[in-house]
Amino acid sequence: MIDKEQVLAALSKVLDPDLQKDLVSLNMIKDLTVSADNISFSVELTTPACPMKDEIKRACENAIRHMVSDTAELAIKMTAQVKQSNMDKGQLQHIKNILLVVSGKGGVGKSTIATNLAVGLAQEGAQVGLLDADIHGPSIPHMMGLQEARPGSSENKKMVPVKKHGVQVNSIGFMLRPEQALVWRGPMVSSALKQLAFDTLWGALDYLIIDAPPGTGDIHLTLAQAIPISSVLVVSTPQQVAIADARKALAMFDMKGLEKPVLGLVENMSYLLAENGEKTHPFGQGGAAQLAKEFNSQVLAKIPLDSTVTSSGDLGSPAILSGSTALKEMVQKVAQALSIQNMQAK
Ligand code: ADP
Repeated sequence: MIDKEQVLAALSKVLDPDLQKDLVSLNMIKDLTVSADNISFSVELTTPACPMKDEIKRACENAIRHMVSDTAELAIKMTAQVKQSNMDKGQLQHIKNILLVVSGKGGVGKSTIATNLAVGLAQEGAQVGLLDADIHGPSIPHMMGLQEARPGSSENKKMVPVKKHGVQVNSIGFMLRPEQALVWRGPMVSSALKQLAFDTLWGALDYLIIDAPPGTGDIHLTLAQAIPISSVLVVSTPQQVAIADARKALAMFDMKGLEKPVLGLVENMSYLLAENGEKTHPFGQGGAAQLAKEFNSQVLAKIPLDSTVTSSGDLGSPAILSGSTALKEMVQKVAQALSIQNMQAK
């Protein structure tokens, strides 16, 4: 006869590869049932986008087969409960993680990365919001195929986000005509951004991705001071000019009074991939890695320069929807890094 204690003893030998603690002590084993010759349980991960999902499942199977029974019927369900960041989120308590995507320089693919990240996290099963705060060039409505869309309004005058590709979207682009943005003064921008963050009916979200404007100006100060950011993701391309601007963005979130945890860097347009699998680096290499080292951070992903990324952005159907491996790996790496940040902060 198999009993629960035996199963738990076996699973307490399985380590979460990121946290280096066992699944039982981490309280990740749920709904364990054991009957004559059946064992069934769920493994509750800290994000549905966990890149170690298959590896953890296999390790559980092996532990049971070796230490409990090699013939029992075994059903393992992989579920997830996204961890909260431990920031005081004030009015945005119902949002577990708020990730600000910044770049320093414009045109490096910040909005492309933010969009694919949001859609990719939703594809993995997370509840996701995407807030386009890029006052100087709100491109998310276009990239999500929402040029004609407008948020709805609720009874209590809150904005109801538009839903597309599984993501709740609101954009400064829905609030103004393209030629208006340039003449907005600082306080107007500030109040519009706060309105977008606080007066949108986001509902319960695992992740809210905010696409910041390029640069390191007043708007960033507003974003960092008014909105309870859990973490910052820096996007750069390999060129020295982009790296120099990304350095300014990193330095900004290191400044006293403004400090925000930096999750890491994404190096976009990092390389060209030939059909034979060979990579070339038309814009140089090593800059992002050097920058990560300087700031004691990490390069989370390198995304190739790929014409399908451009065309899918133009068509309003982000490249991750057509199965880009590099983008999918990026989504999982970002989710994993956020989970680790949250678990370590506890
Ligand atoms: P930013 O938000 O930094 O200004 P965008 O995301 O708007 O930059 O990207 C600028 C342009 O580059 C867009 O046309 C976009 O489709 C394209 N682009 C972004 N990343 C890639 C990539 N990895 N490969 C090819 N084109 C890309």
